[in-house]
Amino acid sequence: MTEEFPALYVVPTPLGHLGDISQRAIEVLRQVPWVAAEDTRHSAPLLRHYGCNARLLAAHQHNEEGAAQQVIGRLALGESVALVVDAGTPAVSDPGARLVARVRAAGYRVIPLPGPCAAIAALSAAGLSEAHFLFYGFLPAKAGQRAEALSELTHLPYALIFYEAPHRIVDTVAALAVAFQPTRTLVLARELTKLFESVHACALGAANDWLLADANRQRGEFVLLLSGAPPVSNDLEGERVLRLLLDDGLSVSQASRLAHAITGAGKHALYQLALRWQA
Ligand code: SAM
Repeated sequence: MTEEFPALYVVPTPLGHLGDISQRAIEVLRQVPWVAAEDTRHSAPLLRHYGCNARLLAAHQHNEEGAAQQVIGRLALGESVALVVDAGTPAVSDPGARLVARVRAAGYRVIPLPGPCAAIAALSAAGLSEAHFLFYGFLPAKAGQRAEALSELTHLPYALIFYEAPHRIVDTVAALAVAFQPTRTLVLARELTKLFESVHACALGAANDWLLADANRQRGEFVLLLSGAPPVSNDLEGERVLRLLLDDGLSVSQASRLAHAITGAGKHALYQLALRWQA
C-alpha cells in the first residue's frame, strides 16, 4: 500500500450492495491493524467479507471522546486506524466528527476515502436541477421542533436533502407538505442499492397520497429531496413592495423609486402602476 502511516483513514462502507466499496478502501481495511467501528458486531462480518482481519475498537456516539484517546494511543505506537460506521460515510449524520477533530488536534493525519453516501447517491438520481443543495440530515423528531426547523428553510433556493427512518416517513412528508408550497418537487429515494430500491418524484402536494396508497412505499430507509424555492419574480415582488410603500404614505415617485431599488423591478413600470393605483 502506498498510503502514509500512521494515519486515521476515514473509510465509507456500502449502503447495502457489497460491491459498492472502492479498491483503495479494501486495501486500507486489509492493511490497518485497527478498525474503529460504530458497531463492532455489525461491522465484523462485513470486514471479514473484505478480508480485513484488523482488531476492532468501538467508536460510537456515546464513547467518542474515549474512543478518540484509544485511537490516538494506537497512532502514537505507529499503528494506523480505519474509521467505519454501519453504512456509508462516517461523520455524515453518523459519529466520527469529534473523533476526527481530536486526532487532527493531536497532530496526526486524517485521510478521507471517498465512497458511498446516501445523500449523494440520492441526489445523483433525483434529477433536481438546482445548482446548489443543502444537506440537512435528520429533522427533529418532535412535531413542534420539526415545524420550526422547516420554517427556516422555506425560502432557500437550494435543493434540500433530508434523511428519514421508516417509522417517521409519513409524518415527515406531511410536515413538509404543510411547510412548503405543494408545487415543489419531492423525490423519495428508498432502499438505495438494495433489492427494493426506488426513486420516486412527484409534486409535494401529492406525496402523502402516494405514500399511503401502498404500505410497501413506507418501508426501508429514505432520503427525501425537495426542489428549491422558486425564484420570486422581480415584478411580483416589486408590486408587493410598491403597495406597502404607497399604503405607508409615500408619494408615487418615492414609492416607485424605492420599490425599484429594493426589488430590481422596472422603475418605469412601477411608476405607471403607482399612478394607476392612485388615480
Ligand atoms: N453516514 C450515512 C451516509 O453516508 O449516508 C448515513 C447514516 S444515517 C445514521 C442513516 C440514514 O441514512 C437513514 O435513516 C436514511 O435516511 C439514510 N440511508 C442510509 N442508507 C440508505 C439507503 N440504502 N437508502 C436510502 N437512504 C439511506
